[in-house]
Amino acid sequence: MSNLTQEIQKRRTFAIISHPDAGKTTMTEKLLLWGKAIQSAGEVKSRKTDKHATSDWMSMEQERGISITTSVMQFDYNDCVVNLLDTPGHADFGEDTYRTLTAVDSALMVIDGAKGVEERTIKLMEICRMRDTPIISFVNKLDREIQDPLSLLDEIENVLKIKCVPFFWPMGMGQDFVGVYGLFDDKLYLYKKGHGGEIIDIETRDGYDHPDVRERLGELMFNAFTDSLELAQMTAEDWSVEAFLAGEITPVLFGTALGNFGVNMVLDTITKYAPAPQSAPAVERAVLATESEFSGFVFKIQANMDPRHRDRIAFLRICSGKYEKGMKMNHVRLGKEVRISDAVTFLAGDRQALEEAYAGDIIGLHNHGTIQIGDSFTSGEVLNFTGIPHFAPELFRRVVLKDPMKSKQLQKGLQQLSEEGATQVFMPQINNDLILGAVGVLQFEVVAHRLKEEYKVQCSFEPISIATVRWIHCDDKAALEKFKKKAHDQLSIDGGGYLTYLAPSRVNLQLMQERYPEVEFRSTREH
Ligand code: GDP
Repeated sequence: MSNLTQEIQKRRTFAIISHPDAGKTTMTEKLLLWGKAIQSAGEVKSRKTDKHATSDWMSMEQERGISITTSVMQFDYNDCVVNLLDTPGHADFGEDTYRTLTAVDSALMVIDGAKGVEERTIKLMEICRMRDTPIISFVNKLDREIQDPLSLLDEIENVLKIKCVPFFWPMGMGQDFVGVYGLFDDKLYLYKKGHGGEIIDIETRDGYDHPDVRERLGELMFNAFTDSLELAQMTAEDWSVEAFLAGEITPVLFGTALGNFGVNMVLDTITKYAPAPQSAPAVERAVLATESEFSGFVFKIQANMDPRHRDRIAFLRICSGKYEKGMKMNHVRLGKEVRISDAVTFLAGDRQALEEAYAGDIIGLHNHGTIQIGDSFTSGEVLNFTGIPHFAPELFRRVVLKDPMKSKQLQKGLQQLSEEGATQVFMPQINNDLILGAVGVLQFEVVAHRLKEEYKVQCSFEPISIATVRWIHCDDKAALEKFKKKAHDQLSIDGGGYLTYLAPSRVNLQLMQERYPEVEFRSTREH
């Protein structure tokens, strides 16, 4: 195997999907601890709604100086190079969260064991499903009373439509949490309280039936454990790597992120089974990760809100080959050759100048307004990567301009901001309104702030009753015309010039879909 292939095969690039408060931040911190990227717990700051009331979100963006660097975290584990991509979660949840999932090869789903499958997780799973991303599941907070593990698996299977295969089975919970039993290695891993912030050797026993364990659990709970274990063992027989890689099966692990238990098992599972970078689809052809020529796409642009540092970083996922400092790249959309000498990498915490990076890694390019979401960069070949779409927004606001003389600047600003992926713009056919669409509410704040700072346009937003949008596609011209006539009042053109349907409600959307079966109502649009 060549050195290049070896380096690429070692890469594991993943993100965490979860509902707010399930434990993503805590898990991230413990993963970094095990990856030796941080020395002790407490170094990763949680970014919470309450800490950043939207009114004072300038300070949040200053803090975002930190979050830019923590957007991607890289560390070594089990001879692998692990890239953990942060998915904005609380107030900063938005389209970026979705798009980050287009740049990973697998995802870790963290579920609060007491709450089960929650709404945000359902949404994020839908995005993962578009690319059949392999999912590893972690049931968190076993140090508390959680739901019955078997019914949790049922819930995941029913709600998320993915088959669960437990790798470990929890023994006890809450005060009586003994540990987890490995279904494949017949070992009991014992949980010890009070070691949340450090790495300790986890004590193991062969088998699970030991007098002291029985005594600790009590006969009743021990029997409950063996009963459910039997069912878990039967399910575990269905494990198949192929089905996992196809996104049909998810291995399920149990533990407590706060108690730092189960985290190394997550990393073992990811390094052992999660895929290395494979191939990426481009309009022209599929690009193999191990090809020697460099290529990649931009999935996120992060603007620094601090006016003193107007640098924007474009996050590029390398799809093939290797980045080397000073290399020339073809910025495919512009057909322009650029020399990249100052890409940044993200070694957990510090933004560092980068010498080299491989397929699967994320690099940051300094962007002075020329890079857009979805842009491809290659070492020469014309490749346009696909699968970095716009996602149908679910939040809408009508823009109200304070100074009507500034409508030109407003148009320009919105155009630019939508190309950057900060928001989406829709122009209804029935009036001259400008409607903004977003996935997360903070996106509107960002837009208002940036319009003011960068384009000197002051505007406010008004609520408008639109539930979601769909991009309209129809090869049958006559059917399309008929639909356009009927739906005229609900139609708009988006920032990219595409026809969209602004659905006043989900029910209305469903009715229209039934009424016009020839028309495709797409929930994503390629860049
Ligand atoms: P996020 O919103 O998903 O990033 O969640 P956090 O990691 O910030 O966790 C939310 C809350 O749950 C915090 O108060 C954590 O201390 C707590 N928490 C996280 N993991 C555990 C766990 O394993 N056990 C318990 N008891 N609490 C946890």
